[in-house]
Amino acid sequence: MSIRDEVLAANDSYAASFGDKSQLALPPARGFAILTCMDARLDPARYAGLAEGDAHVIRNAGGRASDDAIRSLVISYKLLGTAEWFVVHHTDCGMEFFTDEVMRGLLASSLDTAVLGPDGFSDVGAGPGSAEADFIDWLTIRDAEQAVVDDVARIRRHPLVPGRIPIHGYLYDVRTGRLVDVPGAAEAGRAR
Ligand SMILES: [Zn+2]
Repeated sequence: MSIRDEVLAANDSYAASFGDKSQLALPPARGFAILTCMDARLDPARYAGLAEGDAHVIRNAGGRASDDAIRSLVISYKLLGTAEWFVVHHTDCGMEFFTDEVMRGLLASSLDTAVLGPDGFSDVGAGPGSAEADFIDWLTIRDAEQAVVDDVARIRRHPLVPGRIPIHGYLYDVRTGRLVDVPGAAEAGRAR
């Protein structure tokens, strides 16, 4: 079966028992939002106990507080009433394994998938690549804990984010499934 067929078959059985989820309201019932990484090992619905309709989940590479993530968070509270937010990064994040410079070099060389070895990513493609990568801030991570604090702090001081919303910062441990406290995150995200 192709991936497309697998996805559509899974959707068929999901829709067959959809039940009263058809009655869910648009605003998230439990009034909170999670910004987290797109890493395939993380399932926010399971690690945070969410059912359909419960919460907003915003995902990108790294779970970074990009302008676009903040756009979603602002819509989340201003139009849909969330009142508490979580920033959840994780251990062993791929965003720690490269820099802007590396990513730009890989993409300038080819558009094929790079290979991750003991010395980081290297390009094995034939090219051509593109220099467009020079114009993107890839929001890579140098220090996992510091990145959580930085993102919580960036959201906290954003002029469109009201002080009443507490912002919690955690690192999800991919070996245990636990949300681990990050020193400094509670202070950076405290409601004020
Ligand atoms: Zn990640």
